[in-house]
Amino acid sequence: MNPRIEYSCHGAARQVTGSCHLVTCNDRRVLIDCGMFQGGREQDEANYAPFGFDPASIDALLLTHAHLDHCGRIPKLVREGFKGRILTTGATRDLARIVMLDSAGLQEEEVRRGRRRGRRGDEPAFEPLYTLDDALHTMDFFADPVPYDQTVAVTDGIQARFLDAGHILGSASILLQLDDGKQQRSMVFSGDLGDPGRPILRSPAPAPAADYAVIETTYGNRQHRSLPDSVDELYRAVRETVARGGNVVIPTFALERAQEVLYYLHQGVRDGKLPPSIQVFLDSPMAISATEIFRRHPECFDDAFLGELRQGDPFALPHLHFTRDTGESMAINSIESGAVILAGSGMCTGGRVRHHLKLNLWREKSSVVFVGYAAEGTLARRIVDGAPTVKIFGEEIRVRAQLWTINGFSAHADQTSLLAWLGTSPRRKVFLVHGEYQSGMRAMAEKLDGLGIASHMPGMNEPILID
Ligand code: ZN
Repeated sequence: MNPRIEYSCHGAARQVTGSCHLVTCNDRRVLIDCGMFQGGREQDEANYAPFGFDPASIDALLLTHAHLDHCGRIPKLVREGFKGRILTTGATRDLARIVMLDSAGLQEEEVRRGRRRGRRGDEPAFEPLYTLDDALHTMDFFADPVPYDQTVAVTDGIQARFLDAGHILGSASILLQLDDGKQQRSMVFSGDLGDPGRPILRSPAPAPAADYAVIETTYGNRQHRSLPDSVDELYRAVRETVARGGNVVIPTFALERAQEVLYYLHQGVRDGKLPPSIQVFLDSPMAISATEIFRRHPECFDDAFLGELRQGDPFALPHLHFTRDTGESMAINSIESGAVILAGSGMCTGGRVRHHLKLNLWREKSSVVFVGYAAEGTLARRIVDGAPTVKIFGEEIRVRAQLWTINGFSAHADQTSLLAWLGTSPRRKVFLVHGEYQSGMRAMAEKLDGLGIASHMPGMNEPILID
């Protein structure tokens, strides 16, 4: 066999979700991420499709971070024969565990409720993509945590280094050193990149010199608003709502965003920008678990946040309630005024936030504050787009609460930050992934073209020779 290095993309190819990349070096095969496709029926079908490679042939899986669209198909990979090692940071391992278990639980529940029955035409019943048992078994394949900035041997001819990506707790970009016996090549995978300068986490480490770069392009066409303006807007929303006797509902993603918002609320009360009397509820079992995992991984924090940690609990508030039990959650329903409720899901497609919306959306005194991305077709998007009524649990609810859409909290780098990450190191080629083809991805391709940098937008399962 001739020495040969090859790359192929098996998810997030000309789209945002389902991240999965395969690198082959002679007969050794390494995956970077194995995420779930998200966003509707067609995406759901894609999760059931074959991977485009044999899971049993993979020597190792390197995981950039714990978001579902990066780790959500790992239990399927294991179920279909993967027996290699899973390498990632300690924080990602801990977070991926709750994300995969939650996903498995949701899938089993959907099948129990028969929602997926008949979705493939004449097939009467449907199996979950994977079960809780599969997700638990997947944890057996996780190797010891990989520290940032250390080179580790992955398999014959392949070494890896995890670099801080500043996106969510434990997130990493991954540098691969590949040696096929004839030539050495290097590839850096951005993973998802955070916006530099956000609190708690360190900013992304710039991409190292590497022959090839594979970069996400979620916001390849956008520039973000400044973060301090957004935090001030959040404070104003809370102050005004509390003053007029309403509640604030904040739909939040459980990983990172929930902890960030808690931290801002903590700072707001500490600095006198918010009344200390506010009752803050973190009403999401997954967000509560994620917050506990946060406390266990100080190795991921920036210096400012470490300094705050030494002075006390940076999430503390005079009236903070973690409501894990359903009963405790229901008790929030009786509060008419002064409650700030953080609940999932971020796009209001499921979870406890829908109960709080049902109880507060019709009240003029209350507010709903959107701090994250709302994809088309979701309840969050319908509310943001100004629907006069929305259906929640089969009931038409009038939208009379004050709505706030605060855009500066993004967990993804904007175009300027993506280009800054790439830097000026010479590259043989830049591969663009994880973006909407018509917007972020094409905009980045044009931008790179203008800078004289060769780029390519890989198609799904397209084999690409790394020479
Ligand atoms: Zn992510």
